[in-house]
Amino acid sequence: MSGFNFDVITLFPKAFELINNLGVITKALDKNLIDVNLHDLREYGEGSYRQVDDKPYGGGAGMVLKPEPVFKAYESIRKLPKSKTLLMTPQGKVLKQKDLARWSTLDQIIIICGQYEGFDERIRCLADEEISIGDYVLSGGEIPAISIINGLTRLLPGTLGDPDSLVDESHNSSLLEYPQYTRPITFKDMKVPDILVSGNHEEIKSWRRRKSFERTLERRSDLISNENYKKSPQSKRIIKENNQFMKFRIGNGYDIHRLVEDRDLIIGGVKLHHPESLGLDGHSDADVLSHSIMDALLGALSLGDIGKYFPPSDEKWKNADSLFLLSKVIDLIRQDGWEINNIDSVLVAERPKIMPHIKLMKKNISEILNIDENLIGIKATTNEKLGPEGREEGISCHSVVLLEKK
Ligand code: SAH
Repeated sequence: MSGFNFDVITLFPKAFELINNLGVITKALDKNLIDVNLHDLREYGEGSYRQVDDKPYGGGAGMVLKPEPVFKAYESIRKLPKSKTLLMTPQGKVLKQKDLARWSTLDQIIIICGQYEGFDERIRCLADEEISIGDYVLSGGEIPAISIINGLTRLLPGTLGDPDSLVDESHNSSLLEYPQYTRPITFKDMKVPDILVSGNHEEIKSWRRRKSFERTLERRSDLISNENYKKSPQSKRIIKENNQFMKFRIGNGYDIHRLVEDRDLIIGGVKLHHPESLGLDGHSDADVLSHSIMDALLGALSLGDIGKYFPPSDEKWKNADSLFLLSKVIDLIRQDGWEINNIDSVLVAERPKIMPHIKLMKKNISEILNIDENLIGIKATTNEKLGPEGREEGISCHSVVLLEKK
């Protein structure tokens, strides 16, 4: 008896010949750092045919492993003081690096490999843990078992040439590893980042930390979503600087236009009638609802406001249809792969009554933005005769939008 013991119950011991050709694992076997003992389930089969499987009660396709041979094989294994039994099943907990690290301090891992359609439910009681190697189904537990033997062995002292290579790697700290390069310095026009050849070890360290974080955000943000990383000031800065990885952006828009004579009163593309025939003054059609939505959309992506894109000084936009301007803004937003999650607007007008027109406003805006009407909220309130809206000097609108990166 020597190093770490793997005892595997399997119907296909031959599949494990692979570990004799797996570099680090083969060396670990040679150096007696690990022992892999294969227990051929067939030898524990029943009758002259050494039967190990049978049809499932209740019917259904395929065969399942019978409990008796598995129990017999299991009982034949000598248990070491620090031993755990793992059952390979796609229904188990998905294997993580921290599991391998946790088990690496034991003396023995017993692995039970299923086959066919699975195994009799009573076999589960032999297991300390049920392990899946991913959300997919293989034909047997042998490849999952080899994965565990492989992943665990490389963590054992004396197996890897340079134990330091374990420190930084992916999943150790829930972060993925930073990009790695080796010679040559330029390959097919792709150059190694200058910093890595600068010789400045402090800067290299911080570059790597940063890349590691960015890469995890980009590829596996689920790994950091619940971690403390997000809270540290350094991480907050990196997240901010990497807006392209953020999935959501929120924007807020506000607009107010004066009520005057001899102008149309257009809101959300709908022409309304004011009891005193007042309309909204402005360079374009002065549609406050469309304007505040445009500002919210632009604001969400820090793109400035509508004045920047449709300046009042430009004759082109005189009396422009604001719904047309809105269609330009949404094109700009979509260019970068953003999509509207929802919009919520509130109009502040003393008169006329807005309510009866909201349905049509929603329809106009949803058509221009090409989104479902129920993603658009439009509400109206009076200002209780207070302030400029209350005195009917003008009509204003506030909008909030949520954008989602697709
Ligand atoms: N019908 C079973 C799957 C049988 S697959 C079910 O739905 O649960 C046959 C055997 O392959 C399993 O018993 C298990 O030992 C092994 N296996 C298949 N996929 C696996 C995975 N993702 N992780 C671990 N073991 C797996």
